[in-house]
Amino acid sequence: KSPDRYLKCEVTHFGGDKLLIIYDVTRLQHLEQMRRDFVANVSHELRTPLTVLMGYLETFSDQPDLEPKWQRGLSLMTQQTARMNSIVNDLLLLSRLENEEKPTLTKIDMRKLLTQLYDDAKVYNKDYGHHISLEIHSDDNLYGAELYLNSALLNLVVNAIKYTPKGGNIVISWQSVVEGCEFSVTDDGIGIAPHHISRLTERFYRVDSGRSRATGGTGLGLAIVKHVLYQHNAKLHIDSEEGKGSTFSIVFPNNCIKADDKSVPKQHA
Ligand code: ADP
Repeated sequence: KSPDRYLKCEVTHFGGDKLLIIYDVTRLQHLEQMRRDFVANVSHELRTPLTVLMGYLETFSDQPDLEPKWQRGLSLMTQQTARMNSIVNDLLLLSRLENEEKPTLTKIDMRKLLTQLYDDAKVYNKDYGHHISLEIHSDDNLYGAELYLNSALLNLVVNAIKYTPKGGNIVISWQSVVEGCEFSVTDDGIGIAPHHISRLTERFYRVDSGRSRATGGTGLGLAIVKHVLYQHNAKLHIDSEEGKGSTFSIVFPNNCIKADDKSVPKQHA
């Protein structure tokens, strides 16, 4: 009954009877909150020094007549500082997602969001030369947290671009399914071996750290996707074959606004 205590209940079968088990998880919750606060504070504190570093590196890199060894050094420092900056930004986004389990959901115009996503994908695709297509098969819309949702979907698209050898094919699609609405990204890239799939949404988990680092990711993208989908009562499905390619799809069972149904879904009424 105390507002400071966290309890977890579980019903289990014991012989022919049902047994209710109540766990006191207060200490675990406090430790978890301390971990979240620590990550959020460290990431926040790292922002200012990183901004200063990036500013000076840019100024020095612009100097004319730099000796090649300085040019090489500065370019490496700029690259690594940019990487650190991406990690810090992703950690901050993850902290925000963890602390804001129920963000305000608004009606999202999916055609507009997907078209913007497609334009962003084309920018990332500049160095890869993939053929990217956008297939919008339905006029369904969504109730969602637009900024978070946008960054989750962009993460999936950017991964498809990064993990597909140059000149590949990528299809982004939006369709109506029996359970609700579905977003998917299919690539014909390097694919993923089955034993890695269940661990991909863990923070910093990467199939091949060496190769993944070279692609410039942070190892936090799919963890961010998982948190955003949790807010939207949606789940990520990964279908992949090593050497053949992958499909990452999301079904939204609760937040979908069917094009032919003008009523507001119950949980948002
Ligand atoms: P990263 O920043 O390393 O891309 P993510 O969390 O986004 O981190 O992805 C985790 C790992 O999942 C990646 O390092 C990569 O090994 C694998 N992965 C994600 N998307 C794909 C894909 N479309 N094809 C192959 N592997 C992928």
